[in-house]
Amino acid sequence: MSDNIKILVADKLAPAGVEYLQAQPGVEVDVKTGLSEDELASTVKEYHGLLIRSAVQVTANVLQSPGELKAIARAGVGVDNIDLNAATNAGVLVMNSAEASTITTAEHAFAMLMALARNIGPAYKTMSDGGWDRNKYVGRELMGKTLGVVGFGRIGCTVVERGLAFGMKALAYDPFFNADTALDGRVRLVKSFDELVEQVDFLSFHVPLNDHTRNMLNAERFGKAKDGLMVINAARGGVIDIPALIAALDSGKCGGAAIDVFEQEPPPEDDPLRSHPKVLCTPHLGASTSEAQEGVSTSACSQILEYLKGEGLRGAVNASGVSFNLDAMQMRFVDLAERMGRLVAPMCEQGISEVTVTCQGSTLPAAASTIERVILVELLRSQIEAPVNVVNALPFAEERNIRSRCVVEDKSRTFARVAIDIKSGDETRHIAGCVYADGRPRILEINNYHMDMVPEGNMVLLLNEDKPGMVGMVGREIGDADANIADMALSRCGATAMMVIKVDSVCEESLINRLRARPGVLKVAAITLPELADVD
Ligand code: NAD
Repeated sequence: MSDNIKILVADKLAPAGVEYLQAQPGVEVDVKTGLSEDELASTVKEYHGLLIRSAVQVTANVLQSPGELKAIARAGVGVDNIDLNAATNAGVLVMNSAEASTITTAEHAFAMLMALARNIGPAYKTMSDGGWDRNKYVGRELMGKTLGVVGFGRIGCTVVERGLAFGMKALAYDPFFNADTALDGRVRLVKSFDELVEQVDFLSFHVPLNDHTRNMLNAERFGKAKDGLMVINAARGGVIDIPALIAALDSGKCGGAAIDVFEQEPPPEDDPLRSHPKVLCTPHLGASTSEAQEGVSTSACSQILEYLKGEGLRGAVNASGVSFNLDAMQMRFVDLAERMGRLVAPMCEQGISEVTVTCQGSTLPAAASTIERVILVELLRSQIEAPVNVVNALPFAEERNIRSRCVVEDKSRTFARVAIDIKSGDETRHIAGCVYADGRPRILEINNYHMDMVPEGNMVLLLNEDKPGMVGMVGREIGDADANIADMALSRCGATAMMVIKVDSVCEESLINRLRARPGVLKVAAITLPELADVD
C-alpha cells in the first residue's frame, strides 16, 4: 500500500473542496458516488478518510470492519446519516463543518419569518392563480414584536442578531447556555421552554433533534402560546408535533408556520404541510446557497486532511474535549503523557480498574481531556487487541469497567505537571512527569521512586533489592549483551531501588530474561519510546 493519504468522496460535493484535496501532495482522492451500503462497506476500508454530505448512510454495517478508515467528514451540520456509536467504537472520528452554513441557514430562517409576517407565500399563489386579494393578506410588522429562538447556538444566535436589526425584542431558550442575557444584554435567556412559548410572537427552532427536543412544540405548548403565534422550523423535522401544529393552524392559535425540514424527506405527496394555506414550506433549503456549499465542502476537506496528517482536530462530533489545536507547550505535555502511559503500562500486570490523571498548572486545563485520552490509549493498548485511539478510548474504558477521571488542579500553580495513578488488581501504580523550560519532557516519579529522566529511546526499568553490587551486575549483563548504556537514573525507597536505564539499541528478550533471573532482581521491563523531536 502507498504512503499516500487516501480519501474517498462518496457524495456529491461542491468541486472547490475536491479540487483543494487533489492539489495536495501525498493525497489520493477518489470520487465514487451512488454506492450501495454493501459497496460502501467493502470500498471504504481501503481509505483513510471518507467525505460525505447527507445522502450517504454510514451505517454500523459500513463501519463493521473499518480497515484503514480513520475519519469521516460530513460537509454540513447534521450527522444523523452516520451511526455515531458504531463510528466511535470503531475509533473513527466523525467531524462536521457546521460553521460554514451558519449564516446561510440563519438567513433562510429569517427569510421565512419575514415571508410569514407578510403572507408572501399565499399572496404569490393567489397572483399566480390569476387572482388579486389585498384585504386577505394584511401582514404584521416585525418592529417591536418578540422573537423567541429555541437553541442559542451558532444559527439561533445569528437569527437573533437579524431580529434585533429589525427592531424586534429577543428571547432565547437554551438549557446549555449558562447566562441570563447575551449579545450585550439585548437577548434574554429564559429558564424554560414554557416561559419562552408564553411570551413570543415568532418562535424559531435551532436545536438538534434528540429525545429532549422531539415534539417540543405540542398541543400543550400551543395552549400556552399567544394567539396567532408564528412558527419557523429550519432545524430538524420532528421538533414540532405536526398533528398539533395543523390543529393550532386550523383553530387560529397558530398564525402561520414556515417549515424547511421534515421527519421524512421528501414528505409524502399528501402530507398536509404541503397544502395547508397557512404553511410555507421549502425543501430543506436552509444550507443551500452556493457560498455555503462551497464553504462546507472546502472546510470538510481541509478538516479531514488536517486530522489525517495529525495537524489538528476541528469540528469533532464524537471526540468532544479532544483538541490538537493546542499551543506548542501543551502539545509537549500531550507527548509527555503518551510516553508516561507507555512507560507505566507494562507495570500494570493485573487488570486495570481505575485511572486518575492529574493535570496541574495554568497551561494544562485546555489540554487535560486530550492528555487523559492519550494516556488511556497507551494503557488500553497493552491490554486489548482492538485498535484503540483518542476517539474510542473512553467508551472502551467504560465497556471494560475501567473508571477514568481527569483532575485539573490548582490552575494558578506555575509548575505544570502531569501525574497518573492506576489501580491494577490489588496494586497501585504512579508516574509523574513535567516538561522543563528547555521543552524536553522529564519523568520525575515512578511509584515512590524519584528521578529526573528524559523518556526517549530504548529503556529498561528494573526493580531490585537495594543491596551492594546490583548496579555493577546490571551494567555487566547489559555490556555482555553488546548493548551500550546511554544514561541511567537510580532511585531508592525503603528496601528496594529502581533503575531506569537508557541503552543505544533495542534490548533483546534474552537480555531481559537474564536480568530477571539474577538474584535480587524483582521486576524488569523493556520499553522503546520514540526519539524526541528537536526542540526550538
Ligand atoms: P449548534 O450546536 O451551534 O446549536 C444548537 C444549540 O441547541 C446549542 O446551543 C444547544 O445548547 C442547544 N440545545 C440543545 N438541546 C437543547 C434543548 N433541549 N433545548 C434548547 N436548546 C437546546 O447548532 P447550529 O449550527 O446552530 O444548528 C442548529 C440546528 O440547525 C441543527 O439541528 C442543525 O441540524 C440545523 N441545521 C439545519 C439546516 C437546514 O438546512 N435547514 C442547516 C444547518 C443546520
